[in-house]
Amino acid sequence: MAAEGPLAGGRRAAPDPPPVPVLDHPDPAPPDLPEPALAIAHRLQAAGHRVYLVGGAVRDHLLGRAPHDHDLATDARPEVVAALLPGAVTDDAAFGRVLVGDVDVLTLRREGQYKDRRRPSQVVWTRSIRADLARRDFTANAMAWDLAPGTGGLVDPFGGRADLAAGLLRAVGRPERRFAEDALRVLRAIRLRAELGLSYHPSLARALAGAAADDLVGDLAPERVRDECTRALTAPAGGMALRDLQRFGLLAAVLPECVPMVGCVQTNPMHLWDVWEHSVRAVEAAAPRPHLRWAALLHDVAKPMCRTVGEDGVTHFYGHEAAGAEIARALLRRLRFPEAFTAAVSGLVRHHMFAHGPETGLGAARRLVLALGPDGARDLLELRRADRAASRWGQGYGPEGERLLGHLRAIEGAGERLHLRDLEAGGRDVMALRGLAAGPEVGRVLRRMHQEVLDGRLPNRRPDLLEWLRTAAGDGARSAERAP
Ligand code: ATP
Ligand code: MG
Repeated sequence: MAAEGPLAGGRRAAPDPPPVPVLDHPDPAPPDLPEPALAIAHRLQAAGHRVYLVGGAVRDHLLGRAPHDHDLATDARPEVVAALLPGAVTDDAAFGRVLVGDVDVLTLRREGQYKDRRRPSQVVWTRSIRADLARRDFTANAMAWDLAPGTGGLVDPFGGRADLAAGLLRAVGRPERRFAEDALRVLRAIRLRAELGLSYHPSLARALAGAAADDLVGDLAPERVRDECTRALTAPAGGMALRDLQRFGLLAAVLPECVPMVGCVQTNPMHLWDVWEHSVRAVEAAAPRPHLRWAALLHDVAKPMCRTVGEDGVTHFYGHEAAGAEIARALLRRLRFPEAFTAAVSGLVRHHMFAHGPETGLGAARRLVLALGPDGARDLLELRRADRAASRWGQGYGPEGERLLGHLRAIEGAGERLHLRDLEAGGRDVMALRGLAAGPEVGRVLRRMHQEVLDGRLPNRRPDLLEWLRTAAGDGARSAERAP
């Protein structure tokens, strides 16, 4: 155990779940810094400055986890740091944070007033690492590793290591005050607990319960909410973060669209839980990738507004996938997600009911690939798996999913190109063979031909397409035209 233990110092691939932490080791080995961070530290030390590893990297080192990034802190002023380190970029908006490659170098600081619960309005430089750690949010994040050769070691003024050993997330100082300074800490607490599997210290749990009443998170910048929510959702215990948001009354401020899901009863024999609990479980079951976890959370978001009860007492949710796609799109745009991400998630929501209707054929599979892309169609299967795992259906893709998988493999195997522009005949052929002038009718004929090809009734070969254009009664005969 000792040689393999997380404090042995060797860098390893992200261990997940973490190995048993050796948090009570009397003399933990120093963290293993990547080369660029080491070079920065040596350069600053050679010029007579103190350099510390700070924040999440120290915490993760003690937990035996692979850190996200390696943030450094130093007593050198930003302009000194920038002068000593070639290629350094100073971010004035972040109070002189200096970026060297992808390593952050921050001058030790105390924070002044918080004007708007968002950012301190000023910072004051300090030479005290303790003062710098005091402004940090949680004890587990308020440790430093002094990188001075020989004399260095763990700096832990707030008992972060003991809290970690006890499995506790605890605020530095009074949690209510820390939340009032910066409401993002409310979400960071929920996210960190889900990532690290900690419990809230009772004082922190009380402050979280009061955060909704104080309306703390309502005016956070959407980008900050987006990033915290995504990290929480993709954490191993992403479902726990959602449950925490709900039980602390924070859902209305953070994800108001999700509030009606809570307590929305489904009296369908395949469902065991209300829409909220089902969705939380779907999140837990889905692969921990951002778009999949968001899609799992939102796939049934419109069920409450689409809910009807049949004469037999069974609940129905007709159209919830289309309405849900719209809600998902609006929610993700509000949180300023990139448009491609928003489209991917809302596309998955839009199609998550595939093959619950009559369409189970190869043509339907081709349309899904067209709508979502090849990767999106595979993601849809993953969403189906998570959806089933969170209901009475149970494991696997289910028969419809398996059928879709077979179709997707066939489409990929044949290297099919499915877009209308991939047809081996085009608008010119339509005009020549149908005797049409340029205009909307040309497009209609092309789309009809496209549908014939997608449904496998017409091979995408030029002679067959030309023959179809010459002979097919075609015009208006089929209802194959679909909304794009
Ligand atoms: P990870 O890198 O895994 O996200 P982290 O703890 O390093 O975790 P960062 O967002 O990189 O998180 O922040 C670096 C450090 O800055 C934190 O460990 C914490 O000490 C401090 N910190 C970050 N955000 C806040 C905040 N809103 N309030 C107080 N301290 C913060
Ligand atoms: Mg970090």
